[in-house]
Amino acid sequence: MRVARLIKFQKGQCNLCGLYFREEDVVEIDHIIPKAIGGKDSYDNLQLLHRHCHDVKTFEDMIHINQHEHRKFLQKLHKEWEKVDYKWVDDVPVVLGESRCKR
Ligand SMILES: [Zn+2]
Repeated sequence: MRVARLIKFQKGQCNLCGLYFREEDVVEIDHIIPKAIGGKDSYDNLQLLHRHCHDVKTFEDMIHINQHEHRKFLQKLHKEWEKVDYKWVDDVPVVLGESRCKR
């Protein structure tokens, strides 16, 4: 069973708060690197957390994922802008002409 193996691996402690798991605690399996940004479903990417700690971690993951998506978006935007001539006019990029590739 995954949970038993992870408890043993973490020496009975929650990876987030560092407290020992007690019998009455609700524990959940968390992906250290969220699957949404390429984390794997393997033991080295899994950890056990209290349910309430998992909530905190998930919240932090969401911020992380959003930043990740944002960065991808900016990179894509940057690539698009490389294809065109533009100049800054009043803090707004103004396209001067056709795409360089087409010339
Ligand atoms: Zn915890």
